[in-house]
Amino acid sequence: MSQDVRYPSLKPVKAIIFTHSHGDHTGGTAAFLGHERPQIWAHENFGSEARPLVAGGVSFQNVRGARQAGFGLPPEERINNGIAPVRYPKRGGSAFASDGETKPTHFLEGDRQTIEVAGIELELVSSPGETNDQLFVWYPASRVLFAGDNFYRSFPNLYAIRGTPSRSVRLWAESLGKLAEHHAAALVGGHTDPVLGASEVAQVVNDYRDAVLFIHDKTVEGMNKGLTPDELVEYVQLPVRLASKDYLQPFYGHPEWGVRSVFSGYFGWFDGNPTNLFRLSPKSEAERVVKLAGGADRLLKAANDALAADDSQWAAQLADYLLAIDKNDSEARRIKADALTKLARNMINATARNYCLTVAHELREGTKSR
Ligand SMILES: [Zn+2]
Repeated sequence: MSQDVRYPSLKPVKAIIFTHSHGDHTGGTAAFLGHERPQIWAHENFGSEARPLVAGGVSFQNVRGARQAGFGLPPEERINNGIAPVRYPKRGGSAFASDGETKPTHFLEGDRQTIEVAGIELELVSSPGETNDQLFVWYPASRVLFAGDNFYRSFPNLYAIRGTPSRSVRLWAESLGKLAEHHAAALVGGHTDPVLGASEVAQVVNDYRDAVLFIHDKTVEGMNKGLTPDELVEYVQLPVRLASKDYLQPFYGHPEWGVRSVFSGYFGWFDGNPTNLFRLSPKSEAERVVKLAGGADRLLKAANDALAADDSQWAAQLADYLLAIDKNDSEARRIKADALTKLARNMINATARNYCLTVAHELREGTKSR
């Protein structure tokens, strides 16, 4: 396949380096291939995040991924992606070559490798974090670090709500420590504006590392006291000196999801409370709660009252009881949709916002129940 003439590179391309295998970092490769067939470098674990899901026949992450990105939302509701602006109309399509043409041809093996591209020396450094196939590029002549998605100006996505296998938060912090050791003059993240100036880079990288390490260490401290994930998200609070930084605001990732991910990464699904070993089914529990509330009408009124009082999370949870009994209950669907829409209005986290608004549409339009 020839390259797409709409996105040609006018300069000879000698090598392409994938920092990791996510589509937003590999999808446009064909536009840069040209006739020289440049080397394509990647981590030896390239593709490791998606591989187990594909092998296991798991596909619903695609639905969740579209919700997280807000692909189905009208433009006025999809403000941004947290770390990138939204583009309408959506580009792509013919910029993609076949898999064979854009597959890596060269692999980083081990921790660190120096390569030379058109007379320029670059170091590729293994840096598992956002993915296990992450690497960063160090350009020593100009003291520039290309960090891939282990850094961008947002609280890091220690867990992606589209559904990803556990990301090692501990290794992510370690990889950020490796970035810090380079004392770079410029730090280029996978998204958002670069950080310029040695002291700024040092401050940002060290804060970022401290934040990730804090989430890990404080969660482990709580786990060792027997706390459950629901308790841990209250127990683990980022110190103000980190939580106040603009590059650690939860635009994309969220500290709470990182805490839950650390727990599940070490302990799996069981929270440690034996009540939860063999829970009542959602329907059985809901029937009992409805009875306790004095009937479905009373529960519905409580949900409507919660919605009117802007107690939207509670309204959504009450609506869930009614939907567990009848997923087509139109009043319960409306309440949940309205509650999610109200919640989304106050969310600065783009993935949560997109997800809530998309599910609200699904509930109103009857396309999917959940
Ligand atoms: Zn990315």
